[in-house]
Amino acid sequence: MRQDIHPDYHQVKVTCTCGNAFTTKSTYSNDSLSIEICAKCHPFYTGEQKIIDTEGTVEKFNKKFGASTKKAAESKSDTEDIA
Ligand SMILES: [Zn+2]
Repeated sequence: MRQDIHPDYHQVKVTCTCGNAFTTKSTYSNDSLSIEICAKCHPFYTGEQKIIDTEGTVEKFNKKFGASTKKAAESKSDTEDIA
């Protein structure tokens, strides 16, 4: 092994927001690491479906496109009345 070219490989304590914590070895600069999702709480491993919606993306979509489809249906009925 050449000297002074390898990053420091050490123990790191990883803590997830779900409460799960474990230690691993890494070249990460700190001794502890906070994560938002891990193998204990990720839907792929738990097998349950859940929408990870942090910014109200689904609500925003429904507001934008749910409203426009309703408007389109209304305008269609208007043209039918004229004809
Ligand atoms: Zn987790």
